Amino acid sequence: MALMITDECINCDVCEPECPNQAISMGAEFYVIDPKRCTECVGHFDEPQCVQVCPVSCIPIHPEHIETREQLMMKYERLQGRAGGSAAPAEGQAAAATTDTTALNSSAR
Ligand code: SF4
Ligand code: SF4
Repeated sequence: MALMITDECINCDVCEPECPNQAISMGAEFYVIDPKRCTECVGHFDEPQCVQVCPVSCIPIHPEHIETREQLMMKYERLQGRAGGSAAPAEGQAAAATTDTTALNSSAR
């Protein structure tokens, strides 16, 4: 599930640097969470870091972005594979594997 920030947010700036996915940014009036980047901290931490630090408890689950742990893990892996991108990560991994093999071959010679 992605989380969301409600209008109870007091813009204290504490959560933004804690997010391992850079999912939190300043919105028009208060901080917002990008549901495409929020993994509920799956892959990084056991607990959502923003919820842990928020002094006014204004970060509930986003009702329109309910995801399973598996889906969150896939989102985490996609974010890790291509920081900031949303295109297929498999291509990048295949290219990296090819490069590795080439490097091994040339060092063996
Ligand atoms: S739950 Fe984790 S990934 Fe989602 S916004 Fe909060 S700190 Fe970022
Ligand atoms: S920690 Fe809570 S109150 Fe502070 S900016 Fe983040 S959401 Fe708003």
